[in-house]
Amino acid sequence: MTNFFETLHSAFADRTDKTFLRLPNGTTYSYGDIDALSARISASLSKAGAKPGDRIVVQVEKSPENVALYLGAMRAGLTYVPLNTGYTADEVDYFLNDADPAIFVCAPDRQKTLSAVTQNIPRVFTLGTDHDGSLIDALEPENFHIEARGPDDLAAILYTSGTTGRSKGAMLTHDNLRSNAKALNELWGFSGDDVLLHALPIFHIHGLFVALHTVMLSAAEIIFLPKFNKTQIRKQLPNSTLLMGVPTFYTRLLADEDFGLEDCKTIRLFISGSAPLTKETFESFEKRTGHKILERYGMSEAGMITSNPLKGDRIAGTVGFPLPGISVRVASGEDIGEIEVKGPNICAGYWRKEDKTAEAFTDDGYFKTGDVGHIDKEGRLSLVGREKDLIIVGGLNIYPIEIEQCLDAIPGIADSAVIGVPHPDMGEGVVAVLVAETAPLAQSVIDAGLSSLADFKRPRKFIWVDALPRNTMGKVQKQAMREQYRSVFS
Ligand code: ATP
Ligand code: MG
Repeated sequence: MTNFFETLHSAFADRTDKTFLRLPNGTTYSYGDIDALSARISASLSKAGAKPGDRIVVQVEKSPENVALYLGAMRAGLTYVPLNTGYTADEVDYFLNDADPAIFVCAPDRQKTLSAVTQNIPRVFTLGTDHDGSLIDALEPENFHIEARGPDDLAAILYTSGTTGRSKGAMLTHDNLRSNAKALNELWGFSGDDVLLHALPIFHIHGLFVALHTVMLSAAEIIFLPKFNKTQIRKQLPNSTLLMGVPTFYTRLLADEDFGLEDCKTIRLFISGSAPLTKETFESFEKRTGHKILERYGMSEAGMITSNPLKGDRIAGTVGFPLPGISVRVASGEDIGEIEVKGPNICAGYWRKEDKTAEAFTDDGYFKTGDVGHIDKEGRLSLVGREKDLIIVGGLNIYPIEIEQCLDAIPGIADSAVIGVPHPDMGEGVVAVLVAETAPLAQSVIDAGLSSLADFKRPRKFIWVDALPRNTMGKVQKQAMREQYRSVFS
């Protein structure tokens, strides 16, 4: 019933001299440092006219000051709205019109480019990565006050990644964030001795909420890298106890032939999410390092939903069990179908999109995830793809993952994506887009690898590319691929 910042604050309040963020150059920020900086930023935001309940939209590069800005905004009772740093001026324009913020913060070198789309924003600040920008110049003396917030008040609006269509703003309350953070901190066994290697962006749920909150609730430490860089990661792994990553982190590490046991001696847990982790990656990683990557499943609208266990079997290709207090079911009791979720984690709906909000919930209050999967007898969830990515050939449903798993298992194939595009006879035709480890394989080799699939599931077109189109979170952009290859059968 309180501001979530209060919950985070009380977790570290008696340990403010502990290191919170450690940069690769050795600079450290204690919990007290970031707390004090957030209290200064909070005062500056209030002085700039932002009132509790107002939105603050932020598109800046990752930095300790960005962490303090997030916490300072929450402290002042504002609704924090982070944006992907890759968004162009046109895209930022859409988000600014939608979020209708009192304050916008952008990177100093973007201010000019964005000036045309920020004219109607009451206040624009800049924030750089070198303790610079107009927000830093405007810092007020500390105000340690924490604004009281009610259970329905919004802590953040998180725009979805836009993988299946236009991004929608998921409205997350303080209670949403609190329940998920506490559940994960406990489930993954965090303690004050943990050191998390952080190389994710902090404009997305994974790096911002999952990573920061779980650590802060134990006043643990973060090695704070600006982004994924293999050399840096390998240098810092021996100083860490945990790594949270997207699947591409793990495939890139495995691409180093000398990566293995030696790199991972201090690590107690590798976590993966945001996109599917293939069985091949899970298995090679275990072979090389002895570690079974813990895969979990979540989304902007719901925080984390399921996780493989800390203790107990982690099974490749599954995303584990529902978090405590969360119920997960398959729509209309089917064997495979859309995954529906209910619990204290589920967002209050989509910002200023009542129609989309209404569509997203069942009559009995479950949130429809848009992901398709099935639940085994023990209660473990496996995902087979997104509803929008299902392929229907001559009236028969095909789950892309089934074909992708066969393709990924063929030696010489490094990556694959299977999509459906218009087909004159069959409605949709199956297309496999492939990345070779070294050079494209002979068709006969691929055919042999797909021999266990029913004929109607076999791709009718194979396209070799240098790399699959992925966003920063490692999500394959299938919507874009469907457009790119939409006329291969016509
Ligand atoms: P949009 O909703 O705008 O189309 P998005 O769904 O990609 O974009 P996010 O909220 O960032 O936006 O991502 C959530 C989605 O990521 C989930 O619905 C799911 O499809 C996918 N996802 C997350 N974790 C996993 C996982 N472990 N395995 C497979 N997919 C995952
Ligand atoms: Mg989504």
